[in-house]
Amino acid sequence: MASTLRDRRDDGHLGLVMFLDLDRFKIINDTLGHVVGDELLRQVSLRLLQCMNDGEMAARLSGDEFVVLLPRLSGDREAELAKAEALALHLLATLRKAYDLHGQRISVTPSIGYTLFPLADEDVGDVLRNADTAMYQAKMKGRAQVCGYEPAMQAQMAWRLEMEQALRRAHLERQLDVHFQPQLDQDGRIIGAEALMRWEHPEQGWVSPEVFIGIAEESDLIVELESWLLDHCCALLARLPETVLPRLAVNISVRHFTQPGFVESVMAVVERHGVVPSRLVIELTESIMIDGLGEAVERMQALKAFGVQLALDDFGTGFSSLMYLKCLPLDELKIDRSFVGQLDTDASDAAIVQTVLAMAQHLGIDVVAEGVENAAQLGFLASRGCRRFQGFHFHRPMPVAAFVRLLGEPAALRGVVSGQPAAGPQPQGDEGEVAGIPAQP
Ligand code: C2E
Ligand code: CA
Ligand code: CA
Repeated sequence: MASTLRDRRDDGHLGLVMFLDLDRFKIINDTLGHVVGDELLRQVSLRLLQCMNDGEMAARLSGDEFVVLLPRLSGDREAELAKAEALALHLLATLRKAYDLHGQRISVTPSIGYTLFPLADEDVGDVLRNADTAMYQAKMKGRAQVCGYEPAMQAQMAWRLEMEQALRRAHLERQLDVHFQPQLDQDGRIIGAEALMRWEHPEQGWVSPEVFIGIAEESDLIVELESWLLDHCCALLARLPETVLPRLAVNISVRHFTQPGFVESVMAVVERHGVVPSRLVIELTESIMIDGLGEAVERMQALKAFGVQLALDDFGTGFSSLMYLKCLPLDELKIDRSFVGQLDTDASDAAIVQTVLAMAQHLGIDVVAEGVENAAQLGFLASRGCRRFQGFHFHRPMPVAAFVRLLGEPAALRGVVSGQPAAGPQPQGDEGEVAGIPAQP
């Protein structure tokens, strides 16, 4: 194949290289065994080969990686790019159809990256690397995606790799931190807090968790980071009596949640610290259902049986199927801050929030409104029956010392109820006024 790539340079024709990588093949291999895994790879190869025409090649590169080579295309770059995308989508559709593996029906999807060549005067290694980079970008877009190579991707890859290494170092050198954002009830009492990870890069300063969590999620680094955070939070819960801090919520990513042994690892850390399990809240997003409900529900039920509480985070931004709410063993639902932020200006957001509150009430699920930034939003939510709030209107996320101070100062809590400024760091530009919460009509 490499020689075909080498021979095709400089004759005016284009070629196409495509990389395919099976999504989460490792999990199939680990849970169903290597015999099933090998059979799956064999059937994937067969389907790929059946899609090839004369002069086109498909081969298994390694593990669950496949490569497709179309060495002789026309010289019309635009037309060939469109055809390449169509082929990628066709392969995706072909490979994602269910497989019959020794009587079991299994579905798997590939992530597909492709590049035309030559782009400039790159060598064989560059062409393969470009296809691999595009494949990686396809993975980043979420699973079951196709992606064509663009030169800017190379720089972005290098940056992400550098950030990942820096993040790994920061974790090893214990430079990561956790901030806590209080959650309050309708009387202004602190009923819990959400733990949010923080990272200060030595040169780049504070990196947004949306960025570094995304980078950590590309590898098992996220598992290490969140395990550390879980441990940290359980230690804090053990230190603070339940009357002072009833509960603490941690965010768990899909990658971590779907790890073999995740449920057991949560149980172990809770028990090690001797914490009442119901004081720990695990925040999950709708993406845990990406592979169907079955396995996610099983895990959630196991956690629930143990006593841990479960919250569905960012509600309204993902699949948002109301059906999920009925199937999932949830204690709590967090209305995404994008809806709360528009409550006063967007009538449809207000209607959504109202519907979610009514429905959750009906299902016996508590609702936390996230991103409450002003008294008007708070008033709307409270008058529709919302009983839990989190947002800059009350407190920004704060370092542990400030958080513990806040918990230890009853005056600060009274301030929330009586309309006096609360203690703890306040948002810039915010006067620190904390309005009382209106009673339910
Ligand atoms: P999230 O889980 O939705 O967390 C709430 C985010 O909303 C936090 O942003 C918080 O600072 C912000 N926020 C709170 N109140 C307000 C408000 O009134 N207005 C506005 N505009 N924003 C508010 P942060 O800390 O930047 O975290 C962003 C996201 O990063 C989190 O969103 C979460 O998805 C992720 N994240 C943070 N730590 C972890 C972690 O340990 N694991 C995982 N998987 N994700 C994490
Ligand atoms: Ca969250
Ligand atoms: Ca959220």
